[in-house]
Amino acid sequence: MTERTFSIIKPDATKRNLTGAINAVIEGAGLRIVAQRRIQMTEDQAKKFYEVHAARPFYGELVETMTSAPVVVQVLEGDNAMAKYREVMGATNPEQAAEGTIRKLFALNVGENSVHGSDSLDNAKLEIAQFFTDADIVG
Ligand code: UDP
Ligand code: MG
Repeated sequence: MTERTFSIIKPDATKRNLTGAINAVIEGAGLRIVAQRRIQMTEDQAKKFYEVHAARPFYGELVETMTSAPVVVQVLEGDNAMAKYREVMGATNPEQAAEGTIRKLFALNVGENSVHGSDSLDNAKLEIAQFFTDADIVG
């Protein structure tokens, strides 16, 4: 089934000029980039985005990292897009990520792991709505 999921190319990747290289992996996997914008995330935006992790010990550092440089927010579309993108991203910790995945190819460590992808279709909807309106998305 055709779905949409939400992606972020994180500061560690934008800082190293990896936006195009990561997009090539995304498109190579058959996912279509149907909306994309480069933004400087505010502290409020990052806190809200990662609210579910607010009680975790890495939350403060995560918010700091996500606001340390521009990010590229994206909507990806395709067959089974949510699960497919999770697979293309690889494990959260790049040391555990499979060969050929974005995190295996590019991530520096578990905190600076180059990309975000929604973990459910419900979250994908909420995350897309935090950064895009329907008019921004051209499928
Ligand atoms: N994170 C971290 N330390 C950890 C676990 C997670 O810094 O021990 C960061 C990491 O950037 C990760 C994000 O918090 O991508 C969100 O964690 P989650 O468990 O949702 O991983 P993801 O869905 O990004 O694979
Ligand atoms: Mg997650």
